Amino acid sequence: MTRQVFFLPSVITHENKEIVLPSEVSHQILRVLRLSRGDVVELRDESGRSWKAEIVRVSKKLVQVALLEEVFYATESPLGVKLFLALARSDRIDLAVRQATELGVKEIILFPSARSSYRLEQPKIQDRILRWDKIAQEAVCQCRRMEVPRIFYKKDLEEVMTFVEGESEDILKIVASEMNGSYGMEIFLSAKVKPDTVAIAVGPEGGWTEEEMAIFESRKWIPVSLGPRILRYETAVVVMLSLCQFLWGDMK
Ligand code: SAM
Repeated sequence: MTRQVFFLPSVITHENKEIVLPSEVSHQILRVLRLSRGDVVELRDESGRSWKAEIVRVSKKLVQVALLEEVFYATESPLGVKLFLALARSDRIDLAVRQATELGVKEIILFPSARSSYRLEQPKIQDRILRWDKIAQEAVCQCRRMEVPRIFYKKDLEEVMTFVEGESEDILKIVASEMNGSYGMEIFLSAKVKPDTVAIAVGPEGGWTEEEMAIFESRKWIPVSLGPRILRYETAVVVMLSLCQFLWGDMK
């Protein structure tokens, strides 16, 4: 059986020879997975380090483990990917966050676009960020990444533009758009570009407005088509990220 990985909201050091796991993780180990003394699990901590640990003691509700050794996986893509997601239905965003994490994004930035039929106000925004963080942490454990993507919320497209332009690195900016006039991804093959970082934007269920596309293009985002079929939001995210990891990342 594949070793189960659990995320701990703390930092593990060599001094922590034995650890009592938080009640939520203990519950998962005891009641859901029915593991017991002697079983080996893996713990991923907040700093991105990972440890093999053996269950040494169990009580009714808590599990104590002994750290065995630190483990490392070469699962981080050399490509920096920032994914800009227009707000959409919450189950679609959850799926997009999970799949984008599996596909190696480093940052996910959510924002309301003109046709987003879902809006978020404070304090809901903070709750949602925590929820997306948790989904990303679970996905990191499942796919054995070392880094949890960072999640941000921006209040509109203008703030998104400022956020990207504030980066010192040279970023290739791509907006997925099914509108006429978009390029095919093959333009990047012929242009032989080799970016270190790529920013990708995916629109809401209703698509981008013409005004939004004009803003993207005036700020040097390249409109790219993913073929003649209209893909659902979460499908467009997966296709876009897979193509980028294939062209410039570690999907070889
Ligand atoms: N309502 C829009 C329409 O029917 O024209 C479709 C929006 S689609 C569900 C959501 C987003 O996925 C789009 O804004 C775009 O970013 C991306 N997308 C979907 N299909 C695409 C395609 N064939 N090419 C490029 N982007 C696509």
